[in-house]
Amino acid sequence: PDEEAALYVEGLDVTYGRALSALRSVSLTVPHGAVVTLLGPNGAGKTTLLRAVSGTLRLHRGAITAGRIRYGATELDGRDPVAAVRAGVVQVPEGRRVFAGLTVDENLRTGGLGLGRRRPAQITEARDRVFSLFPRLAERTGQAAGLLSGGEQQMLAIGRALMAAPRLLLLDEPSLGLAPQMVYRIAEVIREINAQGTAVLLVEQNAGMALSLADTAHVLEVGEVRLSGPADELARTDAVRRLYLGET
Ligand code: ATP
Repeated sequence: PDEEAALYVEGLDVTYGRALSALRSVSLTVPHGAVVTLLGPNGAGKTTLLRAVSGTLRLHRGAITAGRIRYGATELDGRDPVAAVRAGVVQVPEGRRVFAGLTVDENLRTGGLGLGRRRPAQITEARDRVFSLFPRLAERTGQAAGLLSGGEQQMLAIGRALMAAPRLLLLDEPSLGLAPQMVYRIAEVIREINAQGTAVLLVEQNAGMALSLADTAHVLEVGEVRLSGPADELARTDAVRRLYLGET
């Protein structure tokens, strides 16, 4: 059963347009219930990897040219976000993209739409989970999302993804642009989501936060995996300390 709820990326090549190679021979696994983080400089291909897994690559004119992605027994070919959501894999895009003109409640209701008809009880259960993680959202269900603070919008973006009851959550830079107190809160929430049984693949600029949450970390550089290992071990390597943890 563990293997059925694990993500396997094998030998993945991704290009944008004809020429730009964004990922080369990338392989990694996200075991059932694990937190895995991707570190690396801007342009390394971290977002591209999440897009390939969530099936949103084509929306960005990217294509998988080699390799495969599967979630358990389900092949994910990088072209179909609905297939990914149905398999239990949901991405929270970078930049807390919420529907600014819709209310908090309406935003949440757009989560999990690709799943088709669900029993009202399933939807209520997902909403209850979101509100217990984010009590602030529960107090603001009727408010326009555009009027929320940056941190609250990030919570809403995560909450919307949770409405699809994912088994694997793909998080792209959840702490970006947030005040330290809010970064701390987001880290707590990620820990809690994981403790409830959801695996997380986390892309983060804040390497300290990411390594403290993750079981395993991979460092991507110019489209290739350069370093991989247990997060606590990587956090002790010279390269990671110097380049990603800002130590000298
Ligand atoms: P960042 O932290 O800046 O988002 P990243 O590690 O997530 O960096 P990607 O966004 O995956 O990196 O970008 C990898 C490479 O692909 C970069 O060279 C980038 O310019 C290019 N790229 C990303 N999206 C597109 C696109 N839609 N069209 C063309 N090239 C793209």
